[in-house]
Amino acid sequence: MKRIYLDYAATTPTHPEVVKAMVPYFTEAFGNPSSLYVCGQEAKSAIEQARVLVADLIGAESEEIVFTSGGTEADNFALEGVAFANEDRGNHIITTTIEHHAVLETCKFLEARGFSLTYLPVDEHGLVDPEDVKRVITDKTILISVMQANNEIGTIEPIAEIGRIAKEAGVYLHTDAVQTVGHVPVDVNELGVDLLSISAHKLYGPKGVGALYIRKGTRIVSLMHGGEQEQGRRASTENVPAIVGLGKAVELAQREMSEEAGQLVNLRDQLIKGLMERIDDIRLNGHPQRRLPNNINVSVKFVEGEAVLLNLDLEGICASTGSACSSPSAEPSHVLLALGVPLEQARGSLRFTLGKWTSEEEIERVLEVLPPVVARLRAMSPLVKRER
Ligand SMILES: *Cc1c(COP(=O)(O)O)cnc(C)c1O
Repeated sequence: MKRIYLDYAATTPTHPEVVKAMVPYFTEAFGNPSSLYVCGQEAKSAIEQARVLVADLIGAESEEIVFTSGGTEADNFALEGVAFANEDRGNHIITTTIEHHAVLETCKFLEARGFSLTYLPVDEHGLVDPEDVKRVITDKTILISVMQANNEIGTIEPIAEIGRIAKEAGVYLHTDAVQTVGHVPVDVNELGVDLLSISAHKLYGPKGVGALYIRKGTRIVSLMHGGEQEQGRRASTENVPAIVGLGKAVELAQREMSEEAGQLVNLRDQLIKGLMERIDDIRLNGHPQRRLPNNINVSVKFVEGEAVLLNLDLEGICASTGSACSSPSAEPSHVLLALGVPLEQARGSLRFTLGKWTSEEEIERVLEVLPPVVARLRAMSPLVKRER
């Protein structure tokens, strides 16, 4: 059976060209980039090339890019690094209820260490209101962290508006752009952000590598202490092949992103339309227009999302109930609950995220397989009899 992969927001396959670009940095140019002989300096120059590519994609200077072990570390670095470097200015941090766990758990950690957190609500489509941000800023506020696009529902937040508010108030702004970089145009100056998180494995690069953009002049402390790598901002011998892979992924994105987004929007809308036509009592979660080109998130009433997923898996279709991290626990998504989706509908949520290799045939296959699966589960569901 041919597998149909529709979980690109959880991770993407590594692009074959990325793998090809990485291989020489395991086999030939395996030197330590801090070493002065040729095979070390080859590795060093490959890292610097990747840094330029990443910076170019987001309109930054290469010195403003620090490579990390992924999106999670970039988020931790941004929040903890800025919090601990600016304690003398204040202890208040603003974020939202729909952030990724990499941000939310870091906020909890900071809260336990004396920082004061404000978690802004979102509207029924998952949008943060910039006026809310403005309203809660105090003279103790040091940082605002709002994700650029949500990984579960695909809603794209008004970061540029929040950027203007942050700038006016003299408060740092961080955005988790893991779901947007390499997929839609991202420019740190247009957005007005001071810190921005990137992860390679969400844009056809390898897992275990990412980057944090840090605007020049931002007060931040390091989390990793040791050697002088990354201009002394992130100790540890660089993961050279992975960084080269991220560079290659970014280079491919620069070239292919806009055409790919156009195709994905068509496939996305085809799947949304088909699901709405073929399944009763279903609703689209997230913003109808301001959403990622590849994201479909629906709540199917009277079924458990997990049961649907297992049945889809038997048909070779990989999808998700929301975020990859929360799926093994049967906890309903914190994002859907924040939108005001009733608990039972949050439990019946399904996320399909499309990518570079998604075809129209695959979308048609989902539209063929899913309605009978839902009908079968509903026929067995006690929820249906109770509510109908
Ligand atoms: C995947 C993801 C992360 C975590 O990135 P890793 O590289 O897996 O650590 C952070 N934020 C968002 C929005 C994500 O989708």
